[in-house]
Amino acid sequence: MGAPFRLSSQVVTLKGDHGWSLINWLNLENFSINDTRHPLFEYLENDAEHIEQFTVNGSRETWDYLVENYFVVRHQDEIKPFLTKELAQISENSRTLQLILLPVNQACNFDCVYCYEDHDLRHSMKQRDRDIILDFIKASAPEVLQIEFFGGEPLLGKKFIVDLCAAIKAEEAFADMQFTASMTTNGYLLDIDTFRLLSGLGFEHFQITLDGLPEDHNSLRPLKGGDASFDAIFQNLRAISDLTDEPVSIVVRVNYNQESLHLDKLKQFNLQICSGFTNDPRFQFIFKPIGEYGSDNAEKANALCQDTHSEELESHLLGELEKTGSDLGTLISYMKRSHFCYAGKQNNYLLFPACESEDGRTMKVGKCTVALDDTTNFVGHLHPGGKLEINSNFSKWVANSESFEIKCMDCFLVTQCYASACPAANIEFNKKVCPRVHQTKEDLSKRIVSLCQKEAIFQ
Ligand code: SF4
Ligand code: SF4
Repeated sequence: MGAPFRLSSQVVTLKGDHGWSLINWLNLENFSINDTRHPLFEYLENDAEHIEQFTVNGSRETWDYLVENYFVVRHQDEIKPFLTKELAQISENSRTLQLILLPVNQACNFDCVYCYEDHDLRHSMKQRDRDIILDFIKASAPEVLQIEFFGGEPLLGKKFIVDLCAAIKAEEAFADMQFTASMTTNGYLLDIDTFRLLSGLGFEHFQITLDGLPEDHNSLRPLKGGDASFDAIFQNLRAISDLTDEPVSIVVRVNYNQESLHLDKLKQFNLQICSGFTNDPRFQFIFKPIGEYGSDNAEKANALCQDTHSEELESHLLGELEKTGSDLGTLISYMKRSHFCYAGKQNNYLLFPACESEDGRTMKVGKCTVALDDTTNFVGHLHPGGKLEINSNFSKWVANSESFEIKCMDCFLVTQCYASACPAANIEFNKKVCPRVHQTKEDLSKRIVSLCQKEAIFQ
């Protein structure tokens, strides 16, 4: 006899007017049950610790479904094969190659008060970098290529970006490869002509930062030299929104602290800024507390957001979205590997420009876009001809089924995080560091049940 069966830790059970709903956060399987004579209904009503194998009208179909979909387990680590398979799909997937490029290293035209980067590191990517990257893509022969341009401010290297993307699109060897590009930019240089040009070269996604109302944004994100940046960015966003035929997605990221965005200002921000984009589904506003990124940032402590404030604002935002019936997207974002950092993926490489002070010919390879100068973040070199040489740091970053700790087996976030919410923190603290999540699995599940109404009822 093995150990008795019980509900898996990832399963949430909710009693409502129409019976019980069950959501499995491991695989997002969910159903409702309203037949009071059903053995599972009785088990849930009795709140028993263990559940006996049952049949319904002589059939084991329901029981088999529960076991196969990890609703019931004898031991929590039975979920490991599922996690291993999923991780292989998202991380080791050799058909997809993900590159994060720093066209101008950390150089920037802004001087944001909370920035963690060293803007003096400004050597940029040139033709030799372009050739190494093209050779690397050829050698990897992926079916899908995703390139994210990051910085500093990547648009300071617009010529390189355009040259590289045009070369990828023109290369015959890549004819069957699916190529998409994205960019994290401060938006200042993303005028409409640049936007059109990039859009034609495969750009499908931009993240642009607008830190609140003009005055707050300008004090948090001034140009180098101190001038205001809000108006130019806002005009660029408006102009993009006017281009109704461009199928891009734009995430407007709003970093905040207790001064820059409290409940009154949020109201004003929604009226003054967000309302102009509400009818344009291509735009999405996301709100993020200013955190302690990188070591220098701690000195800029005044700009950091207090935990109590982010908790209050986050719960307010969710409440507001719920009132309008539009928080399904937010909730679903909890369910799509949303806490899994790209640095934990096997097939994701951060590439720095080849540096004259080294040999001027090879590109440094990293994983994390925050711990940019950390020695552990140096995981190898990309050589002329596209040859990748990985060092012993690489495996410290990459998530695999051995990465899980005992606590992860019981955690409802396990398939959002895969113990890889922040590999940099995992390495620094030598343990798996959980993401900050203010909502409980019960709260989130209740919202999902009331919004989804996607129910498969057992007979
Ligand atoms: S690291 Fe924390 S949040 Fe991530 S799976 Fe493990 S216990 Fe859950
Ligand atoms: S490893 Fe951590 S700090 Fe680095 S990009 Fe990922 S979440 Fe951010």
